Amino acid sequence: MATVWAKHALIDTGWHDNVMLDIGADGRILSVSVGAKPCEKQVDILVSAPANTHSHAFQRAMAGLSEARGPHAHDSFWTWRDIMYRFVDVLTPDDVQAIAAFLYMEMLEAGFAAVAEFHYLHHGVGGQAYNNVAEMASRIIGAVNQTGIGLTLLPVLYAQGGCDGRALAGGQMRFGNDIDGYAKLHAQSAKLMTALPDDCVIGASAHSLRAVSSQQLECVTNVAYDAPIHIHIAEQDGEVAEVLAYTGKRPVQWLLDNHAVDARWCLIHATQMTQGETIAVAKSGAVVGLCPITESSLGDGIFPAREYFGAGGAFSIGSDSNIRISLADELRTLAYSQRLQHKERAVLATDQRSVGRVLMDGAARGGAQACGRDSGVIAVGQYADLLALDAHHSDLLGKSGDTILDSFVFCGAQNMVTDVWSAGRHMVRDGQHIHYADIKAAYNNTILSLMERL
Ligand code: ZN
Repeated sequence: MATVWAKHALIDTGWHDNVMLDIGADGRILSVSVGAKPCEKQVDILVSAPANTHSHAFQRAMAGLSEARGPHAHDSFWTWRDIMYRFVDVLTPDDVQAIAAFLYMEMLEAGFAAVAEFHYLHHGVGGQAYNNVAEMASRIIGAVNQTGIGLTLLPVLYAQGGCDGRALAGGQMRFGNDIDGYAKLHAQSAKLMTALPDDCVIGASAHSLRAVSSQQLECVTNVAYDAPIHIHIAEQDGEVAEVLAYTGKRPVQWLLDNHAVDARWCLIHATQMTQGETIAVAKSGAVVGLCPITESSLGDGIFPAREYFGAGGAFSIGSDSNIRISLADELRTLAYSQRLQHKERAVLATDQRSVGRVLMDGAARGGAQACGRDSGVIAVGQYADLLALDAHHSDLLGKSGDTILDSFVFCGAQNMVTDVWSAGRHMVRDGQHIHYADIKAAYNNTILSLMERL
């Protein structure tokens, strides 16, 4: 059992001073005491650490490689995708583990306690299956073991090259499975997951409505009963046009009309929605998985957050392409996108809560739901996913309550984070991951070798 004491903490009943938590061996919070005397492990400010609900780990090593203009007059998501396919052609399982470990370490240092890995790189070059069909999943699991982050593994079904059912080609071959192959991959991955702590779970995902048929999507939703289901949806105008042409409906509308979308679902991006779709998703109980930095990087468009939040919609935050890992930057980018669009300040604040509070609370609760994780608030019975901030940081001096969260989100530098626990595992101390040097050295070697192979 471990004990943590905070001068100031945001728990399920609000902000309190002198808060002590007892954490059990299973990583869950056993008790929360307000007005307690300091114990051995003391922090300044303690809040719930959100989950990062959308990651493609291998893409972390592509950061910075796709910023020059391609052969087209208007560079877009689709030219980025071409670069991604070339990169995928050289990746080995060893590369993937080294990249994922570095990435998950960065996520913990940024204040994320867990990750939902949307895992679609399954096979060798050309689509050749590894002897262990879940070889690549085993490397993600290895990286989780190295870093102590919480995991929701989402094996992805990627079955076709477009809505018309065309075959996969080129770089996509490493992603592909039919339904039988997917069921085997999922079962083998689930077996490997038993080696991880109990907070780590397996869900299911379909890459997108372009990459699976309706029947295949039904199979995905049945493969992991009661577990999270994630899908990329309505990220790009081109994707909306393709689904509309093929089904007669926009992607979000088609999904809501043809599948039982509920609290199990996490709709990744959902950037391109009509007002009717926005309200319908908010009422469905599903979470939208927003990835503000990646959506900005790829020029996707602006998510209708004011309307969606106004309708009570749940959201979570993901780093997707992993070009930059920063919880504060993701939330700030989301907030600023709304201000630029509506030409107003504090668009996402409510009468009772500031923007920082709305975003940190929402990301923690929605992230937990999207990950199928008992977390999202500091309370008895929840996993101890905890983020501690430095009250002596210049931008936090003299602050209390929600202004702490506003300062973290809007002036926030990574060096405000002092400690992070994932389900009670104390992985970040004094702002650094406990295995920083080894994980960084392995990643640096991998990057140098990859640059030679590209
Ligand atoms: Zn994605």
